[in-house]
Amino acid sequence: MSATTATPAKRLDVDAIRAEFPILHQQVHGKPLVYLDNAATKQKPRSVIESQSHYYERDNANIHRGVHLLSCRATDAYEAARARVRKFLNAAEDAEILFTRGTTEGINRVARSYGELLSAGDEILISHMEHHSNIVPWQMLAKRKGTVLKVAPIDDAGQLDVAAFERLLSPKTKLVSIVHQSNSLGTINPIAELIAKAHAVGAVVLVDAAQSCSHLKVDVRALDADFVVLSSHKIYGPTGVGVLYGKRALLDRMPPDEGGGDMILSVTFEKTIYNKLPHKFEAGTPNIAGVIGLGAAIDWVESKGLDAIAAHEDDVLRYGTQKLTEIPGLRIIGTAAHKASVLSFTLGDIHPHDVGTVLDMEGVAIRTGHHCTQPVMDRFGVPATARASLAVYNTRADVDALCVALHKAIEVLG
Ligand code: PMP
Repeated sequence: MSATTATPAKRLDVDAIRAEFPILHQQVHGKPLVYLDNAATKQKPRSVIESQSHYYERDNANIHRGVHLLSCRATDAYEAARARVRKFLNAAEDAEILFTRGTTEGINRVARSYGELLSAGDEILISHMEHHSNIVPWQMLAKRKGTVLKVAPIDDAGQLDVAAFERLLSPKTKLVSIVHQSNSLGTINPIAELIAKAHAVGAVVLVDAAQSCSHLKVDVRALDADFVVLSSHKIYGPTGVGVLYGKRALLDRMPPDEGGGDMILSVTFEKTIYNKLPHKFEAGTPNIAGVIGLGAAIDWVESKGLDAIAAHEDDVLRYGTQKLTEIPGLRIIGTAAHKASVLSFTLGDIHPHDVGTVLDMEGVAIRTGHHCTQPVMDRFGVPATARASLAVYNTRADVDALCVALHKAIEVLG
């Protein structure tokens, strides 16, 4: 669970928070919805939903190229969101914040673009707990450029073997791409330490902050991260939008991986001059409403405070861990000393999909499957897990509802 801070985090009024999420107040299959699939995507507070309808009702126009008032307002709102993200991540300048479709596109962009600067034999180091989106792009790059993919192992608790990680680093390591918080285990990696070790051999580091960004401060300058990727929908924002942070010195050297409108200064049939950052990497009309929604989501998260969100989620996680341990036949997968918001488990010999189906009939929404981390499933010798994952609006009562539904699953399927 998250490290304790010097000053205790303020206590959140979770009932008031829940009231801000219209979707939570409904029945499914005649039961009150208990939404515990937050690692897959989080629900959206009213302010995020309204920021987008406000944009479509008043300001909708294409950005950057227009002289008319609506286009200026749309551009201002879009660029204001970039400034918010810059502040949220403590980046040095707005130009280092590139909007993407999400974490997946951010990693693919680095693989395609930074990958162009790499040569055959250069090594890329990831860990055994990566999401498929932080595995497959590096395999594709290996095919294209002859780079070599190395994988740092994890232990039986689902923690990175830091000594093995360090042994795999060498002057051949050009890039380390590592998850800050695992989506299937909940493990939080000692990211500052890993970045320092990677830098010591001259490697650049990409941090997958898809899960961590909603409850841990990701300060790109304090961490000295080279690239950070995240998805808006995991931080209470809309789907289809994400962020790729990159240090200017790197982004300036990297070729654009997509050509089109907005990423150019001038085009003739003979020659194209690329636009400056960040536009060099934002070809075409972006998801303007989505970016504005992401800005609203960051405002919302900051109004609650990441420390307070983490403290609340940690309390529910501790309670949930204790309660699940009391259920006969239940095995928690992912027991790292430092973890957050994820309870992955198997229940005897019952297939997780069957567990998930019974839970759904009880109104409890969890995710079952490999969670896009098949190597993690292989490591623990299971085909799939059931995963309950927390957000700030979850309560101990949600955990109680989960446990009642699990007893029902044992009764029906056991
Ligand atoms: N990395 C991690 C750790 C994730 O949890 C996810 C989403 N489950 C991704 C990457 C991919 O994010 P997206 O699908 O939003 O691109």
